[in-house]
Amino acid sequence: MNFFKENTGLLLRFDDIAPNMNWELMDKCEKLFLEFKIKPVLGVIPNNEDEKLLSLPHKKNFWEKVRQWQSYGWEIAIHGYNHRYVSITKKNDYFSYGGKSEFFGYSLEDQISKLKKSCEIFEKNNIKVRSFFAPNHTYDANTFRALKTVGIFKVIDGYGFFPYSESGINFIPQLFYKNVFLPFGIQSSQIHLNTWNKKDFENFVKFIKKNRKKIISFDYALTKTNNGLRSLVLRFFTEYFLRFFRLFRFKS
Ligand SMILES: [Zn+2]
Repeated sequence: MNFFKENTGLLLRFDDIAPNMNWELMDKCEKLFLEFKIKPVLGVIPNNEDEKLLSLPHKKNFWEKVRQWQSYGWEIAIHGYNHRYVSITKKNDYFSYGGKSEFFGYSLEDQISKLKKSCEIFEKNNIKVRSFFAPNHTYDANTFRALKTVGIFKVIDGYGFFPYSESGINFIPQLFYKNVFLPFGIQSSQIHLNTWNKKDFENFVKFIKKNRKKIISFDYALTKTNNGLRSLVLRFFTEYFLRFFRLFRFKS
């Protein structure tokens, strides 16, 4: 029993954290996490130029807030550079998601320069970063080379039932669009708080209260990196099924 308990967990990954966002709900989430001692991953856009997001309420002391979150032990991940999509992958991206991308198709030099600019903004604001996930899940081989060049070796995306390492990068799989607990395995969720309404938040509170014990931190997820044969086989099957579902535009 212990084996299953120790190897089942969900990491909460929040996307699109930027100076302009739904602060009313973000503040509520912060209180909730502190109360239940939950450490999420926050994907921070260092230089947000996404017009959709720019229309949301602005926080003046944004970076001070990010420093505070980091002081709670929450993981601050780099979520792109400006969150503006400049290319279309036509399903040729690394995970075959398709759709628009901020990185896909660009030369290694361009991707390195973009990521360097991202890192500099975090550094300037005294935020230590070690992890990344791309807007819209879209990467190509150069994205991973560029990440390694700027010293980032952890990515919260990918298929599988366990965190795994590949070509020098540690991947924590992100399988579903909603909070879903599989009976076994370590994954990350994907939460877009900026699109939530009141009801969504209430459901999230219920989810947290019910599943508190299964919600894990980024550091715990990393300790579960498993490249064993079993996880490779499982990874193959989730990849197969998710690609199949996406063909029919299935979103859970
Ligand atoms: Zn995003």
